[in-house]
Amino acid sequence: MTRLDSTQWRDMMSYLRDNHATICRQWFEQLEPVGMDSGLLEIQTSTGVQQNYLQKRCLEPFIEAAQAVTGNLVGVQFVSEPTPKPKLNGSNGAATRPAAGAHEVGHDQMILSPDYSFENFISGPNNRLACAAATAVAEQPGTAYNPLFIHGGVGLGKTHLLQAICQQILNAHPDFQILYVSCDAFMNQFIECVQSGQMNEFRHRYRHVDMLVIDDIHFLANKDRSQEEFFHTFNELYQNNKQIVLSSDAAPSEIPQLEERLVSRFNWGLVTQVGKPCFETRIAILKAKAQLRGLDIPEDVIEHIAKRVDSNARDLEGAVTTLQGHASLQQRKIDMDLAREALGENAAPRTNQITLQHIIDAVTTFYNVKLSDLQSRRRHKSVTEPRQVCMWLARKYTRFSLEEIGGYFGGRDHTTVMHSIKTVEQRSNNDAQYGSQIHQLDDQIGRLQHGAG
Ligand code: ADP
Ligand code: MG
Repeated sequence: MTRLDSTQWRDMMSYLRDNHATICRQWFEQLEPVGMDSGLLEIQTSTGVQQNYLQKRCLEPFIEAAQAVTGNLVGVQFVSEPTPKPKLNGSNGAATRPAAGAHEVGHDQMILSPDYSFENFISGPNNRLACAAATAVAEQPGTAYNPLFIHGGVGLGKTHLLQAICQQILNAHPDFQILYVSCDAFMNQFIECVQSGQMNEFRHRYRHVDMLVIDDIHFLANKDRSQEEFFHTFNELYQNNKQIVLSSDAAPSEIPQLEERLVSRFNWGLVTQVGKPCFETRIAILKAKAQLRGLDIPEDVIEHIAKRVDSNARDLEGAVTTLQGHASLQQRKIDMDLAREALGENAAPRTNQITLQHIIDAVTTFYNVKLSDLQSRRRHKSVTEPRQVCMWLARKYTRFSLEEIGGYFGGRDHTTVMHSIKTVEQRSNNDAQYGSQIHQLDDQIGRLQHGAG
């Protein structure tokens, strides 16, 4: 067999829709099977970003679909341009230059999702400035705003905007060197390179790019050596007019234990916030998410969700995913009845958002204290310790601000919360027994979030 015939391809697509509905996107329609050599099905994508994304995130379901349809053990490979067919040597074009988007600069490079483009980003009063700034940076990297610093609560589109910038630049300039990593990856690579004596490689990797994009930079809090290294990376890139884009859950001055010199540098360019979407924006986001997935969601269902889910765009998307899953599983069309069944009257999405209550339940049980103690002014060690742990967990798992967290735990101000967070982190590092208790609680809450609870 050298090709999949069109019926088989259609069957493969319906297999995916029936069995893996939530990964399916409208743009899958542009995919094309281009060849089948020695049991390897090649699927052509329109862009390098699509190719990389499908190869890294969706390979298993595609292999499963291909095998179900052909009845054979076939492999799947995504390509972004027709692979030159080498007649004599068997290298199969493997040495061709990596496609745009497959830019393998560091091994922990984040994978760009084709969903996260400017086209798919809904701009509203809550994020208009951030969106405009991101667009300006994508059009004129290194000159418009440098650095661009986007901050806000979870699920409000920070990662989406960062990726939209990367994708727009790569579309216009496929050779533009972008390094897009999470703050964790930056810190882990740094530590690894220090330990293995590969600091030259580390510096080369981070300082010889056209644009450095780091997601969730607030994780630098308390990490003195990583901050120091980042400071020098920043300076080097900045001096060479290379673009820097950062996201964070808090404004620079609100990140606990961030060196003053970094705070001031983050403020050199543009600091802009993304906020909660208003009703109209929520409607528009829901419609965009439905369209992206090729779903027909009636107006009344859209409104039903938009009225009830007012937290953030991630929860709105979660509601759409849940609906899609139910519709596909039960082979039903999406209507109000299905929405009520799938989402409940309250349309609370099943994304296991961690609440303060989850944290309080876990901590009060663990330390055998009462909530009223945690909220009191008492300063005995038996209550300050669990109170600090609550604040640390609340910071990590909820989108409450430092002020809100402080207010909840006995009307304390944000510097107290910052101090508590710092204490927990330092003590976890220095006191193994304490560290393991924190780890245990962290793990317990983390599992709730990931649906095991
Ligand atoms: P953050 O990084 O701020 O926590 P993300 O960028 O990961 O949030 O967004 C969470 C989800 O919500 C993503 O699927 C993203 O596409 C979607 N989203 C957030 N804001 C918007 C928006 N303004 N328009 C469309 N989708 C959005
Ligand atoms: Mg994010």
